[in-house]
Amino acid sequence: MAKIVQKYGGSSVQDAESIKRVARRIARSRQGGNDVVVVISAMGDTTDDLMDLALEVSPQPQPRELDMLLTTGERQSAALLAMALNDLGVRARSYTGSQAGVITTGRHGNARIIDITPGRIENSLSMGNVTIVAGFQGVSKSTKDITTLGRGASDTTAVALAGVLGAQYCEIFTDVDGVFTADPRIVPSARQIPQISYEEMMEMSACGSKVLHVRCVECARRENIPVHVRSSFSDNPGTWVLSHNDMVKQKQMEQAVITGVASDRGEAKITISGVPDQIGKAARVFDIVAASDINVDMIVQNISAISTGRTDISFTLPMSDGKKAVDALNAAKGELGFEDLLYDDQIGKVSVVGVGMRTHPGVTAKFFDALAVNKVNIDMISTSEIRISVVVEVTMVDKAVQAAHTAFGLDTEGEATVYAGTGR
Ligand code: ADP
Ligand code: ASP
Ligand code: MG
Repeated sequence: MAKIVQKYGGSSVQDAESIKRVARRIARSRQGGNDVVVVISAMGDTTDDLMDLALEVSPQPQPRELDMLLTTGERQSAALLAMALNDLGVRARSYTGSQAGVITTGRHGNARIIDITPGRIENSLSMGNVTIVAGFQGVSKSTKDITTLGRGASDTTAVALAGVLGAQYCEIFTDVDGVFTADPRIVPSARQIPQISYEEMMEMSACGSKVLHVRCVECARRENIPVHVRSSFSDNPGTWVLSHNDMVKQKQMEQAVITGVASDRGEAKITISGVPDQIGKAARVFDIVAASDINVDMIVQNISAISTGRTDISFTLPMSDGKKAVDALNAAKGELGFEDLLYDDQIGKVSVVGVGMRTHPGVTAKFFDALAVNKVNIDMISTSEIRISVVVEVTMVDKAVQAAHTAFGLDTEGEATVYAGTGR
């Protein structure tokens, strides 16, 4: 008997009817003779709605209470799905993350899974139940409080469970047919990718392709778990996320230069101008930011003006950390001796990703050329071995994605289907 872990995202369970539809799909897998563990997300935009509600009540909700609130979304859908399955004559039981043994760090809003003690899950499976686990949540080992794993992290719950339970693979059911060369909501002519390596998928996810949570891909890579991304609305073959070796075995050796284009509107930019150009100043700036538990992404330092001996430093960071960073840096203005601090959240990051760029020169030139032809101004640049990212004005993001997609010959004739969801 195969053990399967399936995850259904919010847009697959946006109302009562779709919960029943998903239940019928799970019932088919169960009746095929498999042990089925289901990880479920909150219905539709429930998490966003709960977040809005919290912000109406309190401008800066306490992280512990926010996690208590947000985890109720997944708890609702898990219980409703169990009801629907039982009505179909399929035995099912739902569990919260904590009941399922998902042990995490104590960092509310962005906790990491430390361990999963799957005793209750295994017990439930051995009793013949489809076992449903509320995604995106766990319990802190140290504080015993309920935590959440970050937005979009039900994917990570699913892959982590697949690893611990020794499942052959993990299925991620969503509202598109798989991973595409770009977000089909931005580029309708994007093409579906039949197989993608963990390495490239990690870059795509880290650069904003929210079809898979980045830590889910990290976990899949570490444990070598194949991930099958597919639509819960069709039976179309999806995208397999695999190790490069497994792809080679399936004769997918020949790679396009660029595998995909990703975009992210979730970052902001801080520019500190007039920083004295002295050894150790940049270190202090980023010490202060790090002390607030903030990860920075791109960094640019200008050449200092000889006349003033001062320079400007710009960096990007998650928009949600913007206020914290600005407050911390302003509080240290005297020590750092800078003149001005500018905060800009009207930016977006556009990235081209592909292992092919290791061996093909001219990718940067082609990307920048496509942006220039389309009158998109580049504000910042960063690269890795398999990625080139630029920061542009937020209003230019879609245009930049479309331009890069076309320039690298990724457009296809047909139009990608987006089955549901608001894209929020
Ligand atoms: P779920 O609710 O199932 O977790 P998400 O909204 O988190 O779904 O992720 C699916 C969405 O990811 C798609 O509807 C699509 O708009 C977006 N997306 C972004 N980049 C890509 C990509 N490269 N391929 C497919 N989908 C993408
Ligand atoms: N419901 C959570 C969110 O919207 C987790 C998830 O869907 O993966 O972020
Ligand atoms: Mg998701």
